[in-house]
Amino acid sequence: MLRQEGTEVAIDAPPYMEARCASCDGLQETTRQTSRTGLRARDARFVQIPYCGACAARVDAAARRRGPLLLGGIFASAGVGAAASLFPWLPIPVLLAAPAAVAAGLWMLTAHLLEAWRPPAPATAGGEAVRVSGTRGQRTTFFCTNVAWAARFAALNRAEAVPARPLRSLWRSGWALALIVAPAAAFTALVSAKPVIHIDNATGERLQIWVDGEPAEEVAPIAPPGPHDREGAGPERPSIRLPYGPHTIGWSPAGATARREYH
Ligand SMILES: [Zn+2]
Repeated sequence: MLRQEGTEVAIDAPPYMEARCASCDGLQETTRQTSRTGLRARDARFVQIPYCGACAARVDAAARRRGPLLLGGIFASAGVGAAASLFPWLPIPVLLAAPAAVAAGLWMLTAHLLEAWRPPAPATAGGEAVRVSGTRGQRTTFFCTNVAWAARFAALNRAEAVPARPLRSLWRSGWALALIVAPAAAFTALVSAKPVIHIDNATGERLQIWVDGEPAEEVAPIAPPGPHDREGAGPERPSIRLPYGPHTIGWSPAGATARREYH
């Protein structure tokens, strides 16, 4: 589901193309540039591909979608990661790995749904029908979605047409985003989350609560439990919020400067 079906043609010189649409094999009406930029300038390729008007419009639409999709993928992955802080009782490795898996799964599904879509025949591509899939020295490898067009393209350039199943382009460009962004967001959310700690003061007097040696809050004594005292039914229990991590929590009579401590 992550792979595309088509044909690869490797050519050692600038390629010749006949004036037929690379997607639907109809008459050429225009061209669209396909490009690949490598780390080295000599690996960069810019090639004009023939299209009919309708297929060229789909190439343009797919190109316009790409930026917002990648941005949306980043936000969605961050959201999935941040949701990890809703499950603070789970072990940390699970809280980092689960969002990565969920985000990658969502990305996989998106890539599949968007790129597996095909316009009605004879068109063969929802976006680009020909793209540069590899470069090596003078050699350029083209991936083509239209098998018949690719066979004639290969013959015209005295090259071979080889069946190929490359990864879908959204998946190639986006999966790392999900795997990096989701755990990073989960980590950030866990560090900044401040879980609530309830304090039941059963001493009968007002108490000063201390956190890490600093005075935090004063809490009033709780009423003795009665027959109707169920969770959520009684008055709100006093609570404090603490960041994750070990803390020293102490208490003393209200207004005192000394404290007794427990952990
Ligand atoms: Zn066409």
